Amino acid sequence: MIKINENYLKLPGSYLFSEIAGRIRKYNENNPELDLIRLGIGDVTRPLAPSVVEALHRAVDDEAAAESFHGYGPEAGYEFLRSKISEEHYGRLGVKIAVDEIFVGDGAKSDTGNIGDIFAADSTVAVCDPVYPVYVDTNAMAGRAGNYRQADGRWSRLTYLPCTAENNFVPELPSTDEAAPELIYLCFPNNPTGSVITREQLGLWVDYARKNGSIILYDAAYEAYITEDLPHSIFEIEGARECAIEFCSFSKLAGFTGIRLGYTVIPRELKVDGTSLNSLWSRRQSTKFNGASYLTQRAGEAVFSVQGQKEVRETIAYYQANARTIYSGLSKLGWQVYGAVNAPYIWLKTPDNMGSWEFFDYLLEHAGIAGTPGSGFGPCGEGYFRLTAFGTAEKTEEAVARITTLVR
Ligand code: PLP
Repeated sequence: MIKINENYLKLPGSYLFSEIAGRIRKYNENNPELDLIRLGIGDVTRPLAPSVVEALHRAVDDEAAAESFHGYGPEAGYEFLRSKISEEHYGRLGVKIAVDEIFVGDGAKSDTGNIGDIFAADSTVAVCDPVYPVYVDTNAMAGRAGNYRQADGRWSRLTYLPCTAENNFVPELPSTDEAAPELIYLCFPNNPTGSVITREQLGLWVDYARKNGSIILYDAAYEAYITEDLPHSIFEIEGARECAIEFCSFSKLAGFTGIRLGYTVIPRELKVDGTSLNSLWSRRQSTKFNGASYLTQRAGEAVFSVQGQKEVRETIAYYQANARTIYSGLSKLGWQVYGAVNAPYIWLKTPDNMGSWEFFDYLLEHAGIAGTPGSGFGPCGEGYFRLTAFGTAEKTEEAVARITTLVR
């Protein structure tokens, strides 16, 4: 008899965003005249940079003529984009990444979700708590769900690393008494907490991974929001080439959430039991993926031009200003507010010890603002709330004004 992959039945329900949508729908029905401000979903709102739009138009024209038409491209991406990533992005950071260590894809969600394909189904995994849900759900799909320790002391499949106000939302290294997790997902600047990791802290994780033979899966989707002297890439850390894979995205760098473009870096020397992970991922991608489109890769190339950089940095600055508006406005109310300085996310302790969902309803009902309950990102998110900086400046200011009026 045909059987489904029963791991899907064990998935934590995709409750968060559907529940939010349901409550917002109800609010809109009951308050059709009120103007809801959405500071919940992590999608950008500003249009593409003019340089990117021009590049897209040119790429469409290329596709319109037989001489310049591009069909299937190289699965790992066109050289013109990979060399820009290598020279411009990593070059600027003083990091040497070769073109063949870069795999262009359709975004960091796919790659962080698919990377588990090249590891054994019984690999043990550690994720931060709270966490971007894709890491947890995709491991659950692969049968790595569960949060218990096995009799032999191995971390059973998936375990959480608590990120709390006490540790500044940066996980502590696991105790040396316990077997090290084989795969460790880290994401900085972090979604949802907006926290960052210093070079020293990241260095400790790299040392830990090398000592224990673990692999760090480093999600740098928000590196463009860093304003302080912090690592933009794990490969700035000595030894990371032997223990890390990095995921990057054009989504929040250049507003490509609808265009879709990202890349994954796997150093050539990264091996498990003598097998190159770069080769395995290359095999996986060339089998299951036919490359990001020519159009989107030309658009991505334009992000690295002098003009393109100027334009995308202006948009990032716009969102960063929103983050500061929320951060300073809510701090003035005496609330405990985190993130924002190096991230488009503002993470706050709910006032008066309200539960995350209780605060969601309170803000929606009394201020007409939709955010995201922290508990939706993991158990340690309970009692916290996420707001995003991706709205318009006007709405963001109005949201802070509404909250201030409500509280005072
Ligand atoms: N990684 C993190 C931590 C994210 O928050 C997101 C999007 O919200 C992604 C990856 C997905 O990025 P992309 O749009 O490139 O798929």
